[in-house]
Amino acid sequence: MGDALQVDNKKQLLKQYYAGQRMDSPNGGYFMLLGIRPGEAGHAVGIFECSASSLRYELVIPKATRTERKKVRDVIGGGDDPDCPRHGRSMRLVRVGRNLVCMDCGVAYARA
Ligand SMILES: [Zn+2]
Repeated sequence: MGDALQVDNKKQLLKQYYAGQRMDSPNGGYFMLLGIRPGEAGHAVGIFECSASSLRYELVIPKATRTERKKVRDVIGGGDDPDCPRHGRSMRLVRVGRNLVCMDCGVAYARA
C-alpha cells in the first residue's frame, strides 16, 4: 500500500465520497474503496483502486473539525445517537475504544 498515488481533485472526490456517489478516476474508470486506514493525527486515509487501470490511489479524509465535534456533542447531549456529520443520516457513529467513529470516514467525532 506504500506506493499508492495521490489524487488532484481531493475536494470534489471527498464530496462524492461523503454523498455515496460514484468517484471518477483520472484513468477513465471509477474508484473502488479497498479500505480505510486510520492516521495518527485524527485523519484517515482512504485507499481506492481504479476500475480501469487497477492503479491504487490515496485520499486523505480530514480529521474532525471543531464545528463537527460540537454538532455531534450537541446530539449526544440531547440524548440521541449521533450520525456522521459528513455522511448524514445514513451513517451512525459507532464506539471504537474511547471514541465515536464513522466507519466510512475512519474519523473520530467525539469521545464515547
Ligand atoms: Zn462519515
